[in-house]
Amino acid sequence: MIKLLEKDPYAPIQYVYEVSEILYKKKSNFQEIMVITNPHFGNMLILDDVVQITERDEFFYHEMLVHPLLHAHPNPENIIIIGGGDGGAVREALKHSTVKKIYFVEIDEEVINVSKKYFPSVACGINDQRVEIKCMDGAEFVKSRKGDIDVVIVDSTDIIGFAKSLFTVEFFKHVKNCLTEEGMFVTLSESLHFHKEMVIEIQESMKLIFPLVDLYTSNIATYAGNWWTFSCASMKHSLREIRRPYNIETKIYSDEMHQHSFLPERFYKKLLNKELKW
Ligand code: SAM
Repeated sequence: MIKLLEKDPYAPIQYVYEVSEILYKKKSNFQEIMVITNPHFGNMLILDDVVQITERDEFFYHEMLVHPLLHAHPNPENIIIIGGGDGGAVREALKHSTVKKIYFVEIDEEVINVSKKYFPSVACGINDQRVEIKCMDGAEFVKSRKGDIDVVIVDSTDIIGFAKSLFTVEFFKHVKNCLTEEGMFVTLSESLHFHKEMVIEIQESMKLIFPLVDLYTSNIATYAGNWWTFSCASMKHSLREIRRPYNIETKIYSDEMHQHSFLPERFYKKLLNKELKW
């Protein structure tokens, strides 16, 4: 059987996956896109040799990326999703009946096309009439919006290459300008176990811009470091609190999980004070 050696840009370990079949492999204008099948994970999307999603466990990531903020917000209607070409974040956001509009801003149209073909259960919401696809850099898109967005979600590749533009203080400033006075923002921010310094750096940059910043985590087996972080910010409301009833279908997210996913206050403080050593 062929093996795939993952080349995660920051991880101190490398995963090896068995490959039953290579279903797709081509370079787009932005990256190499590959779809393989693995006996355990099913179809897997790999960009520039880094695993993005697997059919079997994608919901762990997508539900935990989207639902905490969409439950903390009192009435999320207008959403921006940056990256997320597989459609998983769009699918989850569409579960909320309050959502009227999703600007789906993916730089690489080919990722969307490939996902529609090989990951139909993930990409199933992309053609919904509430979704407007913009194939461009998310950092450019946010510059064009002013004060009418309820929630901005970043679902990008690792913080390298063209995804770097989504982790700068300047980008966070533009995100803030997009948001309403109750607006909220969430971005992936790598692993607390492997990339603690990177997590702190992102948190510090966000704190320069947003009135409220917080951090929650979830275990994602296929992302190196596993203890995955989501850095989030809010213009007004605490993100730890749920403001709308939890009545959608999910596998891992729930109102109970919402409370448990945020870092305990003292531990969070210690992290930001750089008192945690590992
Ligand atoms: N959940 C995945 C993970 O964390 O590994 C991310 C999946 S999704 C496929 C990531 C997408 O972000 C890619 O399709 C990539 O093209 C897109 N992307 C990266 N940087 C971007 C940017 N600056 N603007 C818009 N899309 C971007």
